[in-house]
Amino acid sequence: MFEQLISQLLLYAAMGAGAAITAVWVGITLWTWRDMRARSRDTLAQIAATAMVAILNVFGLIVYLMLRPRETLAEAYERSLEEEALLQNIEEKPVCPGCGRPANAQWQVCPHCYTRLKKPCINCNQLIDLNWNLCPYCATQQAKSAPEPRASGRSRRTSTSATANPRRVEESYEAAPQADVTTYAENEEG
Ligand SMILES: [Zn+2]
Ligand SMILES: [Zn+2]
Repeated sequence: MFEQLISQLLLYAAMGAGAAITAVWVGITLWTWRDMRARSRDTLAQIAATAMVAILNVFGLIVYLMLRPRETLAEAYERSLEEEALLQNIEEKPVCPGCGRPANAQWQVCPHCYTRLKKPCINCNQLIDLNWNLCPYCATQQAKSAPEPRASGRSRRTSTSATANPRRVEESYEAAPQADVTTYAENEEG
């Protein structure tokens, strides 16, 4: 009578333990399936990870946690958006190449270090990049060496750029002597 009761209690305990283990097994298998689906679009990888956890149970789960992709797909997407936004910020805010301070797109010269940033178009006066020879607004060809001597005259440049300027003038002088003489003369007048 007493032995029967004990054996029955043991049976219930075993059944309870079995049910708990099964519940945990189902739980971690389902969790792995869902977690892998959030981290990978590869169906084969999802099935493989779930099968590994289903067969190896807790040990499979440990291996899965070590090997699973670090980011979920949503996290990776968010990160790519953030990176894109950062890149756009960098592109949108012009920085002075001379001193690295933030510059305005409308500035001709950096007010901090006197570096020339833009030049006005000879025809429409829109500000364009220093190395552009064609105005994108009115399609006027820019006189090549015209803005450069003016730049060195107006802004206090360092010795390196001061020595670099005459060299550039010499180069263009060889290419187009007449055009350069006239622009040089104009600049000395003005
Ligand atoms: Zn500057
Ligand atoms: Zn123009």
